[in-house]
Amino acid sequence: MAQKPVKVLDKLSEKICVECGQVIKEQVESYFMECDRCLAKKVAD
Ligand SMILES: [Zn+2]
Repeated sequence: MAQKPVKVLDKLSEKICVECGQVIKEQVESYFMECDRCLAKKVAD
């Protein structure tokens, strides 16, 4: 029996914000793991 492969990410370029779980777009070069909003919160905080 062939096992189904583990879920593979369709788009490796996409990141998920570790704070809110929102997909981070257009930040391929960024090393941040949070979206703009969460980053802004941290900066403001
Ligand atoms: Zn976020």
